[in-house]
Amino acid sequence: MKKISNWWREDGLTIGFVPTMGALHEGHLSLVNTAKENSDRVIMSIFVNPTQFGPNEDFKNYPRTSEVDTELAINAGVDILFCPQVVEIYPLGFQTSVSVSEISTGLCGEFRPGHFQGVATVVLKLFNIVNPNVAVFGEKDFQQLSVIKKMARDLNLDVNVIGSPTIRESDGLAKSSRNKYLSKEERGAATIIFRALSKAEVMVKNGETNAERILTEVRELVESEPLCRLQYATICSNDTLKELDIISEPCRIAIALFCGKTRLIDNLELDPNRNEKAL
Ligand code: AMP
Repeated sequence: MKKISNWWREDGLTIGFVPTMGALHEGHLSLVNTAKENSDRVIMSIFVNPTQFGPNEDFKNYPRTSEVDTELAINAGVDILFCPQVVEIYPLGFQTSVSVSEISTGLCGEFRPGHFQGVATVVLKLFNIVNPNVAVFGEKDFQQLSVIKKMARDLNLDVNVIGSPTIRESDGLAKSSRNKYLSKEERGAATIIFRALSKAEVMVKNGETNAERILTEVRELVESEPLCRLQYATICSNDTLKELDIISEPCRIAIALFCGKTRLIDNLELDPNRNEKAL
């Protein structure tokens, strides 16, 4: 992989990189488009990274659909699909890790200890192997995007980290490899996450700036769905991810919930400058 990247670099070509865990869907493929718009060659990785899963999480059962993925990636215009084995990435005796401390602590970090350390470590390793000019991550995993951006800045990486918008089903549910786990009933109930985010967006559009008042409504709405259990709902700064009391600048509302046994996350930008009173 390093050799091919070096050849391309020597030929003056720029490299765009899309790291994934496979079970590809249109969300992943939209990242490929963003990478193509920003570089000459696109490398996608598929690696289900064991170190970002907690002991009670779904590493073993995570969907692995490599044949379909290969076809989807080729059709989307990926030049190289890089699929390393776990022992190649973590050979016996591996003991180094990257921790992006503050930005990893709130939101999902609170409920998935070690998760973002696992993500940052594998992404830095993949960056060092692939040597991309540009790397594309989905806004769907907003905290992950923020962690990678921070790591790139803090460690002087020569990689331009770009966020790409969330791709949704027609009813608003964000596309996710984990949606495969949902039963028919749960799939119906899962729309509550986007409905709750949209409720917050409407409240801000109507001039509400008090975060707690918005979150109270959001929690009530999620709790009205018997198949879902809220893990957190937070309104936070776009840059630091610190919780906000008052919405005075563009920020994020982020939600994590369990739909049956499946954990789903999503987020939306809230922009008080776009409220009806301001317009
Ligand atoms: P994953 O395979 O779930 O680790 O995701 C790989 C990349 O795809 C990450 O940068 C995700 O943020 C991104 N991604 C996942 N779902 C979506 C989506 N619905 N829209 C846009 N990007 C997504």
